[in-house]
Amino acid sequence: MSIAVQGLKKRFGRFQAIDGVSFVVPSGELVALLGPSGSGKSTILRIIAGLEQPDAGNVKLFGEDATGQPVQARGVGFVSQHYALFRHMTVRENIAFGLETRRVSRGEVRERTDELLALVQLQGYAQRYPSQLSGGQRQRVALARALAPRPKVLLLDEPFGALDARVRQELRDWLRQLHEQTQVTSLIVTHDEHEAFEVADRLVVLNRGVVEQAGPPQELYERPATPFVAEFLGSVNLLSGRAVRGSAVVGDGMPLPGEVLVPDGPVTVYVRPHDLDIARAHNDGTSWPARVSRLVPLGALERVEVGLRDGTDLQIELTRERSRELALLPGDDVYVTPRESKVFRLDLAPLECASKV
Ligand code: ATP
Repeated sequence: MSIAVQGLKKRFGRFQAIDGVSFVVPSGELVALLGPSGSGKSTILRIIAGLEQPDAGNVKLFGEDATGQPVQARGVGFVSQHYALFRHMTVRENIAFGLETRRVSRGEVRERTDELLALVQLQGYAQRYPSQLSGGQRQRVALARALAPRPKVLLLDEPFGALDARVRQELRDWLRQLHEQTQVTSLIVTHDEHEAFEVADRLVVLNRGVVEQAGPPQELYERPATPFVAEFLGSVNLLSGRAVRGSAVVGDGMPLPGEVLVPDGPVTVYVRPHDLDIARAHNDGTSWPARVSRLVPLGALERVEVGLRDGTDLQIELTRERSRELALLPGDDVYVTPRESKVFRLDLAPLECASKV
């Protein structure tokens, strides 16, 4: 494993910012550290870079304990949200900066800088100053500068956080391509689950200084281990219910199809909007009577908002074809069937709960 953190803890005053964090970033992968604001993402990145010392735990880079090493000895490239370029230096000089301090020959510096300008697609911009670049171009220069000394690992702290939505999107695609080309082991911090899904091979989801779950994006989306992960990764409907001997009912006694693997008691059922289907007619007794309240076109999909008998509102996403087939109107009486759901006992610790299969 290229980056392995084990049992990291960090307290600021009386506030426990990081509380026993362990995860790995396999060699050559791009992993996203994802979580809400204040969950401790930047602190972890700064500890890996050597900018912050943990109170407990250790950081291994390529098998070697780096916990006590100074920043310069770690071979880490770091890019932050705020453009950290030198304003009085050209793009070429900015990129070359990290090489010149390492006593590399002038010829080599020029060659490596040309290579990086090509890599970040800014060949024509070598003589410009940062003030003559767009925000997106500046972040590309910052990345080139971080990559110049051939770091062992690249750490990116919300690198596109200050850019507008369209530029962010372009840079995500670009970052993924860049990663395919360079294969540098990278850890990117983001609070945006769409960004994490688009760029990363694996996610580490953080909440209040603790890892909730780690794994490939699709696995976390489909099999969230905790209610937090289910809610943080994409939209989800929540229904109250009750588990009794391996099955569950929701609302005022409507059956939840399938087996439920949680202890008997009050449960919360998590259903993604696209995991609910609508029919005009009642099926074999497992569908839920509902009334359509609103239809919202979303391009390729349509969002149908319905109310169940007990007053619970649900959001359902249908493909445009399915929606056309059903020709729904507000006020229509329909039947809703969940195809897939996750059941949690919120009154128990997450590990005591299991999800429906
Ligand atoms: P954001 O997405 O908002 O940057 P984050 O997940 O990166 O958040 P951190 O910046 O790691 O979170 O901060 C975690 C917690 O630790 C926050 O509550 C923050 O206020 C606190 N914190 C971070 N650095 C310090 C510090 N130097 N002194 C005191 N508290 C700090």
